[in-house]
Amino acid sequence: AKNAGKRRFAFFEATMYTAALHRVALESDLREALARDELLLHYQPIVELATGRIVGAEALVRWRHPVRGLIPPMEFIPIAESTGLIVPIGRWVLREACAQAARWRAAGTTDFRIAVNVSAWQVQSSELVADVREALAHAGLPASALSLEITESTMLTDTEVTLGRLHELKALGVTLGVDDFGTGYSSLSYLQRFPIDQLKIDKSFVDGLGGAAHDPALTRAIVAIGGALRLPMVAEGVERPEQVEGLLALGCELAQGFHFARPMPASELSARLAPTPER
Ligand code: C2E
Ligand code: CA
Ligand code: CA
Ligand code: CA
Repeated sequence: AKNAGKRRFAFFEATMYTAALHRVALESDLREALARDELLLHYQPIVELATGRIVGAEALVRWRHPVRGLIPPMEFIPIAESTGLIVPIGRWVLREACAQAARWRAAGTTDFRIAVNVSAWQVQSSELVADVREALAHAGLPASALSLEITESTMLTDTEVTLGRLHELKALGVTLGVDDFGTGYSSLSYLQRFPIDQLKIDKSFVDGLGGAAHDPALTRAIVAIGGALRLPMVAEGVERPEQVEGLLALGCELAQGFHFARPMPASELSARLAPTPER
């Protein structure tokens, strides 16, 4: 038994070592990824629940690694954050996403809106506001067509810097949305302190809708908070038709999830977009 324990420890050490090596290798590769044009964006449609019409999309970054293949953001965004690379990577994402959104609007979906994830690190950076302004100008995209998704935890890190930054962004005219709303456990008072325009209801609450095994009480409570503050809501992670009914009944108007579409390359979304109806 003692030997088995030793072996297990040796295995554990070796695993840790491999993980550390892996991380160091990825980190140095990530430094080159932008210059080598290895990053790309996929777009997941955001639909109007009542009509099913695509009114926008969330830009989600991927890394096409020459050896490891397509790497999901969860595996390199944390590395980008801890090395500061998130600032140039985030700048690239903003530019690319705004340029693509402008193309879709020019092609006839004139009310198309693009959502871009912004990490806490970027909000702390003094370059963010200039990067957003520059991305909009370069694309010729109106600020009202861009929404920035910021997690609750962002608003709890250096709140004075964050508050100032969000007001600067707000002054540009962009929409500020809280991502993964409801998962931050913290006090909700930030919703009144910060200039927030929209809530993105986390998948974990959407999971609780439309199914015998689930209790929708928490989802109802979360959506009620948005309703009380008159904040528009987008539900994420909608996978089943019953959830669409549930969300509509609760007064949530926009959603995204595998039920509608998975994140896809720009060319695929182009084929699915319809012109904005005239009114
Ligand atoms: P997120 O902002 O919560 O994005 C939603 C994630 O949920 C995406 O994963 C999406 O593919 C996935 N998803 C969407 N609908 C469904 C569904 O119906 N079911 C399930 N099971 N999953 C669904 P993805 O693309 O792997 O992105 C993961 C996270 O990486 C994002 O979570 C976001 O936090 C981060 N991320 C992605 N792109 C960027 C970026 O450009 N900048 C920064 N800072 N973070 C990013
Ligand atoms: Ca998001
Ligand atoms: Ca989210
Ligand atoms: Ca989420």
